[in-house]
Amino acid sequence: MPPWKRYEELRPDELETLIAQSPVAHWPLGLLEHHGWHLPIGFDGLKADRTCQRLAQRTGGVLLPVMWWGGGGGHDIFKWTHYQNEAAITTMLAETSRQLLSYGFRVLVLMAGHYPWQGFLDAVVPTLRDEFPDALILAGTEATICGDAVDIQGDHAAREETSFGMALFPELVALDALTTGRDDSVWPGSQPPPADRRHPKVEFDPSAPLFAQMGEDARKASAEHGEKGIAQVVDHLSRTINDYLNNP
Ligand SMILES: [Zn+2]
Repeated sequence: MPPWKRYEELRPDELETLIAQSPVAHWPLGLLEHHGWHLPIGFDGLKADRTCQRLAQRTGGVLLPVMWWGGGGGHDIFKWTHYQNEAAITTMLAETSRQLLSYGFRVLVLMAGHYPWQGFLDAVVPTLRDEFPDALILAGTEATICGDAVDIQGDHAAREETSFGMALFPELVALDALTTGRDDSVWPGSQPPPADRRHPKVEFDPSAPLFAQMGEDARKASAEHGEKGIAQVVDHLSRTINDYLNNP
């Protein structure tokens, strides 16, 4: 098995050795955002990080620290959510990617756990591909990064994402927290958002167990269901990367 290591823990000589064996950089892209009562606020970054870890076990390379600063999607009205503006996000994405590719990584995996990251990737990745035509840049969310090869659905903290969490980090998922009883004190400043800021498919009643979610009932989630989706993504990407490295 090719080795994989955490980027931030390596010394320069170790990086030279590792990149000569496995020139793959895996970068999980997430953010901090309210993900219902049962999931951690770092859910999207944790999902991307654990998926990248599984991928790195098959391809080797380095795992970058999660990009925790993201945005987009309208959940910034929920407490414990940190959105940055598009210019800040795309600048960090483009500059860090460019640096990694210029240091000699031949494969860059930009694995986004938060679906609105797609827009930031679409704004940055075509230019990177033009600048580094010999590199393989795989970019997208778990629902898009494999193109048509894998058909999995996304949602927000509902059945799909909860299933991914149960498969990847069950110790951080608490289905028994999906209870009734909260009130408007859960909002920033205890002020619920105005009607025109309420996405019609998101649950805005804090007393509801499925508060802040969008999608099918999270209580129908299962590790088996999540595992099926993640395994397909990891299988497809690892085959793509290993083919590329074996036949440059
Ligand atoms: Zn999410």
